[in-house]
Parts: sequence; C-alpha cells; structure tokens
Amino acid sequence: MNFQNTKEFAQELDRSDELKKYRNEFSFPQINDKDVIYFTGNSLGLQPKKAKEYVDEVMEDWASLAVEGHFYADKPWWDYHERFCQPLSEIVGGKPTEVGVMNTLTVNLHLLMVSFYRPSMKKYKIICEEKAFPSDQYMFQTQVDFHAKNVGFDPKEAIVEIKRREGENNIRIEDVLEKINEIGEELALVLIGGVNYYTGQVFDIQRITEEGHKVGAYVGWDLAHAAGNIELKLNEWKVDFAAWCSYKYMNSGPGNVSGFFVHEAHHNDKELSRFAGWYGHNKERRFLMEPQFDPVQGANGWQISNLPVLSLAPYLASVEMFAEVGMKKIIKKRNLITSYLEFILHEIDKEIEGAEFEVITPVSQEERGCQLSVYLHGQGKELFHFLMKNGVVTDWREPNVIRLAPVPLYTSFEDIYNFGQILKRGICD
Ligand SMILES: *Cc1c(COP(=O)(O)O)cnc(C)c1O
Repeated sequence: MNFQNTKEFAQELDRSDELKKYRNEFSFPQINDKDVIYFTGNSLGLQPKKAKEYVDEVMEDWASLAVEGHFYADKPWWDYHERFCQPLSEIVGGKPTEVGVMNTLTVNLHLLMVSFYRPSMKKYKIICEEKAFPSDQYMFQTQVDFHAKNVGFDPKEAIVEIKRREGENNIRIEDVLEKINEIGEELALVLIGGVNYYTGQVFDIQRITEEGHKVGAYVGWDLAHAAGNIELKLNEWKVDFAAWCSYKYMNSGPGNVSGFFVHEAHHNDKELSRFAGWYGHNKERRFLMEPQFDPVQGANGWQISNLPVLSLAPYLASVEMFAEVGMKKIIKKRNLITSYLEFILHEIDKEIEGAEFEVITPVSQEERGCQLSVYLHGQGKELFHFLMKNGVVTDWREPNVIRLAPVPLYTSFEDIYNFGQILKRGICD
C-alpha cells in the first residue's frame, strides 16, 4: 500500500478498519481533555470497559453469597480458572488441556523450571538471550545457584547468552541454532523471550524449539511480549512449556496473573518433578482432602493454590474479547498499523533537518510484532517529556530509545498521523 502522511489518508484507513469498534471498548487516560495516544500497551494494556463489570460481578457475588459463591455464583469460583482454557488455547495455539492461568509470570517460570530444569553434571547449561528482561536474568542466576550447590557443576559455566554481533541490533537466528549445536549434550534448557522486550524482535520459536530438541534439551518460552501480539502455535511447534503475563498486550490489569502452557507430551510423564498444591489435585476428589496427590490430567495439574478470582475477572473479560476477534484479524491490522507508524517516522525524518531516527526493530513483518523501538539520535529526554505533555504516552529506555506499540485493538491510524505531527513539533521547537 502507498501510504500518505495526511489526516485524510489516516481517517480513510480508520474507516476501513475491521477492528475500529473495539477502540470504544477501552478506557483512555486524558491529557489536555483528550484521549491520549497510547503507545505503552506493551507495558500495561488499557482497561477494557468490560473488566469492571466482571470484577463487580465477583464483588456482588461475594457480598450476597459469601462462601457459597464457590459453587453458586453465576460463574462459580471453584473452577473459574477453567473458563480460560478454551479462549486462551486459541490465542496461543495450544489445546485447552495445555493452558492455564495462575500466579504471576516470573513465579510460573520458576515453577515450570522445577519440572523442566533438572540439571546433572553432564547436562546443566541454559541458553538464553543476551540482555534478557532483568527478572528472567535473576531467575536464571538463582535457579543455577540453587542446583549447582547440590549437583556440583560450576554455576559460572551454566548460563550461555546468545549475543548480538558487533554493530547489529538484533540476534541472528543462525547464531542461536549454532550455539545450541555447539553446546550439544550439555544443554539442559533453552529459555528465550518470544519477543524481545527491548528491540521488539520476534524469534523463530518453531525452529529454535526443534533444534533444542535435537540435542535433547527442553525448550521453553517467556511469552510476555508475545501473547496477544504474534501468532503462536505452541502445540504444533512442540514447545515444552511457556508462560506469559496478562497485563501487557492482554489488558488484564496491573501485576495480574500469568497464563502458562505445558505441552501434552508431558502431561503423563511421572518423571517430571513438580511442586504441588490442592488445586492441582484431581478435580472430582479435590475436596475429599486426601493425603496422596493425584494431579489433574493436563496443564491444570501444575496448579497450586485456589485462584485469585478477583484478579481473574478482568483477565477473563479481556480473553473473551481476544477470542471474539481472533488473532488473525489482530495480526492483519497489526502489520498495517505498524508499517504506517514506520512510514510516518521515516517521513518526519526526511522533513526535518537534523532528525535521525533509527528503527532498531527488524523490518520484516515475520520478525516483529506491533512494537517499534526507535533510537533517536541527537535527541534527549526532553523530547520524551514533550510527547507526554502533548498527550503521547511512550516509554523511554536509556540511552535514548523510545518504544512505540500501536496496539491493534485500540490504536487508530489517525493516532499515528497525530503522533507524527506532535513529534515534528517536539523536534523543531
Ligand atoms: C514484563 C516481563 C516480565 C515481568 O514479570 P512479572 O513476574 O510479571 O513481574 C518478565 N519477563 C519478561 C520478558 C517481561 O517482558
């Protein structure tokens, strides 16, 4: 498509946008009495209006039914979490028995590592990405230290980071595959972010998973920036396990619960260790309070505690919206609106003397989702503050990168045009 940097053109794209009605399903913060242009849905998604309704429903059931709500609420609490299995499985490309919701992201990754990282002296290495999200780095370090003490391997040898090549912004897939083969039998686990939080690079989950399996390693994915953003086929790709937070693209609310996936190939594996709790116990027999743990068949056998229903409620509202729209339409609009944003950035770049934007996110639509990370050469943090004051919510990462995520469910093409105009003023002023 030949894009134009005009308001009329942007409005025309909005008119033919299949998802345009969803914008009105969200609450926007106001700056200068106007809805903000919200580019930080990769950090905390906007609130779906339905979320409040779903939370109120639980509050009312709690008030009027108290403990009876576990069984007699309209959406009974004792198996409320099972309402996620079907819609979430569609979003991540798994079977309903392979997905669940519980805890929070880092906690779930730790728990899944209990099952999928059981190192020995011969097989103890973990491959991850260089500059992984800090929480993931702390997780790797502490998991490795925990096991190294018992098993006896050198913890300093255990974590292998895949690095970017000198002068390049993104990690090359061939470097990941090569490293997997180089480490070979010593490799216990590959655990990478499906979409890098800083650059927005999307990894080839299928190929990396396949290669990891060839050397006998487990392969798991942190899908924090992937769930609700890119196409996933976790079952078909034979991913061993994955987890994602729900508050980024999935719009469930601050710090909210995490989704997780365990491939069906592992559901009956008695050798896998896991940390158990009563909500992972056989559903029919859960309340018999038996001493012997008999796990639920499927991902929900990894559950531990009874679930925070008040937290699940807004997530359920959001998941139902995703299931209604379907990832196909979301991805179609994502590709168009992200390309439009890229076009606008390049137009402003051409128009203004001295501006130089370097998009460090891959150019190919196969290798990016809806985030563009932009290196603003010669610009300081004042620009970020200017954008904020003028109603554009972005985020700033040192030294001078802004991350822009035009989320398909609620960003309009006119937002992108308006952003370009504000950006231009910010640089010229
Ligand atoms: C956002 C994010 C997290 C956050 O983890 P929490 O446990 O939910 O605080 C972890 N890893 C990655 C890659 C993220 O992007």
